[in-house]
Amino acid sequence: MAIHCPKCSSTLITARSMGKKVCCGIGIVAGGAQGVSNALKGAKIGGEVGAFFGPSGAFMGRFAGALIGAMIGGVSGGMAGAQVGEIIDDQVLDNYECLQCEYVFRID
Ligand SMILES: [Zn+2]
Repeated sequence: MAIHCPKCSSTLITARSMGKKVCCGIGIVAGGAQGVSNALKGAKIGGEVGAFFGPSGAFMGRFAGALIGAMIGGVSGGMAGAQVGEIIDDQVLDNYECLQCEYVFRID
C-alpha cells in the first residue's frame, strides 16, 4: 500500500523511525553495561573451563569468555532497544515525512 502525503498527496514518503534509532542506541549502551558484567562472568567461567587445558588454556578461556559475554550484552541490548523504539514509533511519534513538502505526519 502506497502512503500519500495528507498535504500534497505525494507518494514520496520516508519513514523517520526516530524512536527506533534513539532507543537502539540507548539499548546498545545499556546492553554494553550489561555486557561488561557478562564479560566478567564469562571471563570467570572461561578461565575455569580453560584451566583444564593448562595456563594458556585458562588465559584463552578468560579472553573468549569475556568477548562472548560482552557481545551478547551489547547485541541483546540493542535489539531490545530497537523493539521498544519501534513501539514508540508506531504509537507516539509522527513517523512519516513527505519528501515533496517536508510535512511530517503519522498514520493511525
Ligand atoms: Zn507533501
